[in-house]
Amino acid sequence: MAEITREFIKALPKTDLHVHLDGSLRIPTLIELAKEQDVKLPSNTEEGLREVLFKDAYANLPEYLEGFSYTAAVMQDAEALERIAYEFALDSFEDGVLYCEVRLAPQRHMSDKLGMDDVLKSVNAGLDRAKKEINSRNDIAAGDRPHFEYGIIACAMRKFEQSYSEYFRQIIELNPNIPILERYKIAASDLVRGVIRLRDEEGLPIVAFDLAGEEAGYPAADYAEAYDLAHKAFMMKTVHAGESYGPPSIFQAITECHADRIGHGTNLFRDDMVNLPTEQERKHYVRALWQYIADRRITIEVCLTSNMQTIPNIMRVENHPVGLMLENRLSTTFCTDNRLISNTTVTDEIMLALRHFGIAQRRLKDIIIYGFKRSFFAHPYLEKRGYVRKIIDYFDDVQKRFKVTTDQEVTIAES
Ligand SMILES: [Zn+2]
Repeated sequence: MAEITREFIKALPKTDLHVHLDGSLRIPTLIELAKEQDVKLPSNTEEGLREVLFKDAYANLPEYLEGFSYTAAVMQDAEALERIAYEFALDSFEDGVLYCEVRLAPQRHMSDKLGMDDVLKSVNAGLDRAKKEINSRNDIAAGDRPHFEYGIIACAMRKFEQSYSEYFRQIIELNPNIPILERYKIAASDLVRGVIRLRDEEGLPIVAFDLAGEEAGYPAADYAEAYDLAHKAFMMKTVHAGESYGPPSIFQAITECHADRIGHGTNLFRDDMVNLPTEQERKHYVRALWQYIADRRITIEVCLTSNMQTIPNIMRVENHPVGLMLENRLSTTFCTDNRLISNTTVTDEIMLALRHFGIAQRRLKDIIIYGFKRSFFAHPYLEKRGYVRKIIDYFDDVQKRFKVTTDQEVTIAES
């Protein structure tokens, strides 16, 4: 019997397919940038910020979201965005993540001084700088370890207010006669058009479009036009769905927004959140929905720690539906959501899952490798296949190094 340790999980090649840049800063960087930019923080020390802002547990969603107002405040210029993206990639790599898709809502960083192109080019420059540095390491350059890769996911906001950014303030102020929902739709479609242009004309690895922000009251179907634009330009689609709303939100993501993956999907099995007259109809609807997701291999980006912090009935990991997802063979991948705000890493997320859901080593290998397969890899398909092949070989190398085999029974080391 082999013991699975944190060091082993950390050494395995991993993906992070659901992670927000503005939720994943280094605290010392936040403090430094705040000083430079005259942004007032509730504390100027790492311990202080951990105490009042970036906690292990949050009382409610507003408390969870509070940290973002400070991180977004220091992400309004090109240099800061470049640095934060650079550090993010290094930190992910340090955790053994070899492929990540980092997402951001470019419009939250836009102003008269910083356009959409500037935001995305700065973020890409930071990621690219880290990638070059990482890939020139001896073990990677020698081919002993697969190289580091990344993609960028652009998020539209389901709703926005003047305080969200200078760009959003202007949209609201300059268009007082456009109904609120129309403003949201216009901003979302404008973002899609912009990122398609940046991908096609400037070669930026923007791989997918996403919808983020408050889910309840802002159905994904309202943004179908933006998703249609992305879909018809061969851009991949993921949607935050089933996090604070029920299965119909996931249904809309699939039927109206052509979702290739689902962000969270936590409430997928909640037939009590379906508005149909009889229990039988509700159960049938939910079953048909998850059967479809399973069969089409629509990957669910599972963020355990984040869900425990923001969804009241999932305060304990045992209550998380990932157990049911795994039991029913849905395609799932473990992600951080927010490395700083959720105070987690991919290694931590996998350790948490292993401790509570009895995942065999063979299955863990499938889940991790499937993350690479279901990624929105920015390069040609044959290159993606070659990359996945190298990842599988490297996975086996790491297992050998730690004397773990896929067939043996494993126990999970405490701590
Ligand atoms: Zn998210």
